[in-house]
Amino acid sequence: MKNSVLSWLDETAKRLPNKLALQDISGNITYQEYRSKSLAIAYKIVELNKGEMKKPIVVYLEKGKEVLVSFMGVAYSGCFYSPIDTEMPQSRVDKILEVLKPEIVITTNKLKTNFEKFNFYGSYIIYEETICSEEDETAVKPYTEKIIDTDLLYVLFTSGSTGVPKGVSICHRSVIDYTDWVTETFNITQKDTFGNQAPFYFDNSILDIYSCMKTGATLNIIPKKLFFQPVPLLEYIKYNKINTIFWVPSALIVVSKLKAFRNVDLSDTLKRVLFCGEVMPNKQLNIWRKFLPNVTYANLYGPTEITDACTYYIVDREFSDDEPLPIGIPMSNTDILVLNDEDKLVTDDEVGELCVRGTSLAMGYYNNPEKTRSAFVQNPLNKAVPEIIYRTGDLVRYNEYREIIYISRKDFQIKHLGHRIELGEIETAISSLEEVTLNCCLYDEKNQKIVLFVDAQVDRDYIKERIEKLVPEYMIPGKVIYLENMPINANGKIDRIKLKELM
Ligand code: AMP
Repeated sequence: MKNSVLSWLDETAKRLPNKLALQDISGNITYQEYRSKSLAIAYKIVELNKGEMKKPIVVYLEKGKEVLVSFMGVAYSGCFYSPIDTEMPQSRVDKILEVLKPEIVITTNKLKTNFEKFNFYGSYIIYEETICSEEDETAVKPYTEKIIDTDLLYVLFTSGSTGVPKGVSICHRSVIDYTDWVTETFNITQKDTFGNQAPFYFDNSILDIYSCMKTGATLNIIPKKLFFQPVPLLEYIKYNKINTIFWVPSALIVVSKLKAFRNVDLSDTLKRVLFCGEVMPNKQLNIWRKFLPNVTYANLYGPTEITDACTYYIVDREFSDDEPLPIGIPMSNTDILVLNDEDKLVTDDEVGELCVRGTSLAMGYYNNPEKTRSAFVQNPLNKAVPEIIYRTGDLVRYNEYREIIYISRKDFQIKHLGHRIELGEIETAISSLEEVTLNCCLYDEKNQKIVLFVDAQVDRDYIKERIEKLVPEYMIPGKVIYLENMPINANGKIDRIKLKELM
């Protein structure tokens, strides 16, 4: 019985001290180094916290192995980590800090200057100044030992429709449960090397981080820029003997669109290609399958709120280019309820909302009881005892094999280039511009563009300049359409159906 994910780092560092744990562009560290550096960070936190635990600690670092060492440092101290993207605009970081109210941030001397611009008045731990010492472990141990599995491990922020990001709060138990499923289902061992694509502030990275830590596999953090250069990306995979990848479909599609496999043969290298986060079109997957027929492909599905993924489909048959790829069946120790409008289980091929029950559920949205109450609700099928399910907002149905097929969203949440975005968050940013009265954003799936309809005579460059300080780059509309009069429906709301026709 494990109380925390740290048992894995302890055990792996003992079993395989000199095994390569983390690799990135600036070098490698072994499992022993991973653990001792984490303990050095934990020691600093314990010192600053004066005995307090369960506090949020922000990790503000460029992507690299230091981020993961910091995450584990935070965990060893009995606190929980929350990574903030170093490219995030100030106003959004300030909103996150307002929700999280952290007292400590881990960063570098260089990035500290940046962070000082934010609304933060707490203490800094400067990564490069933490030095390992023999006392670390003894000083930190009493705190680590007090962790129980329902204590928070991390808070990841996702887009929120009102403009305030939501902090999905996940405990150790959920990650333990999920990682056990991943490593058993895909037979992960110390011999494996993962090629990480997911940013560490995105939930897909949970699979990479903890599957490696548990089994002693190596985690290679692939340089971000390679995801724009398919041939060098495949060369990197080959050179580094990466045999397992878990990427968003957008990243896989970059490779298949250019048929980069013609230049680099990965048939002796890649063993598993897993993906999650958005729809994987069979047209693209079929290209992967044609060039690499012996690889295990799996479509994982799930939102951040249920610890990365809750259903999966291991590709075991042929699909034509226009068929949907199933999101499959529930993972172990997870139950999926597909509920219709009357909150009853759907029958046959009726469409319903995918709801999740189980240990994987987040504890809620950090410091946001209202949003928590609306998404994490009492199981309508259980009248006897309190039991929470998470309503994903995803519409699905079953196929003839009782596999789940993803259909669409119920609301205005989209996936654009792998990023989860609430269109409402962009609309809130646009409505702060003085010349705008009404605005509405829609997503043009075909051209992969966020389209803004606005009642002010402004162009895309102007919008970009004005909102780039409010929302991340990927949320800036790709197309702006000026409408003198916004169409209004019978309920007095902006008529999105009419706008769709104008797209
Ligand atoms: P995130 O919280 O960023 O992981 O986004 C979760 C949302 O991404 C889900 O609610 C779905 O709408 C979408 N999603 C995740 N995985 C898949 C998948 N395999 N197929 C289709 N949509 C997916």
